[in-house]
Amino acid sequence: MGSNGKSAIKERRPGREAAAGSAARSPDIPCAAHPRVLLLNAGYEALTALTARRAVVMLLCGKADVVHDNPELYVMRSATHEVRVPSVIRLREYVHIPYRAKVPMTRAALMHRDGNRCGYCGVRATTIDHVVPRSRGGEHSWENCVACCERCNRKKADKMLAELGWSLRHKLVAPQGRNWRLVSSLREFGPHWEDYLVA
Ligand SMILES: [Zn+2]
Repeated sequence: MGSNGKSAIKERRPGREAAAGSAARSPDIPCAAHPRVLLLNAGYEALTALTARRAVVMLLCGKADVVHDNPELYVMRSATHEVRVPSVIRLREYVHIPYRAKVPMTRAALMHRDGNRCGYCGVRATTIDHVVPRSRGGEHSWENCVACCERCNRKKADKMLAELGWSLRHKLVAPQGRNWRLVSSLREFGPHWEDYLVA
């Protein structure tokens, strides 16, 4: 274990600082320079990804505790405090989050489900197609919408798949899993996040 208490709160990314050499940074480092912090419920369920600033405020207010440090030495300073930015924190008190059985369908979420590929031909998708056209009673739902390229979208128009002899490259299902939405909104995982974000 090792008591690295003091040395840990030394510098933000010492290597990079040295490499940059010039222009001393303002002591109050902007948020964008920091990685995000995963917030867990008191029961260790992942809730959301916070900015470093919000996470530090929660720690300072005693609302949350550090679960995992970030191996990169990110430090946030104020006039009176110097706090090491962790990777994962956990609420002291449990908050009840209504469980949504179904992930709401948005354009971005649908594109993510389909990997940004056209459900008919596999090229890059730029739009959304209703498999059963809306004009024929098709629903705007996970099961009836698919990512689609312009070309297929134009060809398909108001026709049914059977009329064209087309088929889908994959089955259309609503994404499952408690963390699907959070995971799909993250650009990258921080250290240790995977332990909490398995859907
Ligand atoms: Zn296509």
